[in-house]
Amino acid sequence: MSALTFENLLRHVGHTITCSAHGLPPQNVVLNCETCDEVIVDLDADGETLFQLVPVTPEPPVMPPAAAMAVAAD
Ligand SMILES: [Zn+2]
Repeated sequence: MSALTFENLLRHVGHTITCSAHGLPPQNVVLNCETCDEVIVDLDADGETLFQLVPVTPEPPVMPPAAAMAVAAD
């Protein structure tokens, strides 16, 4: 569970945020809001990144066949 939206992060402004590693060697790192007792970001050591948790760019729109035919007729 991560709070990766603007609104979710905004709720933690001014709060006490900690970063802790779990395991030896570390297998997991967690950003936690101590004020809310809430996990903000939780990443495993297996190569997981923030970019895997949220899309970097939106999917390109798919042009419907009718619109493609109208462009071809011009
Ligand atoms: Zn908070």
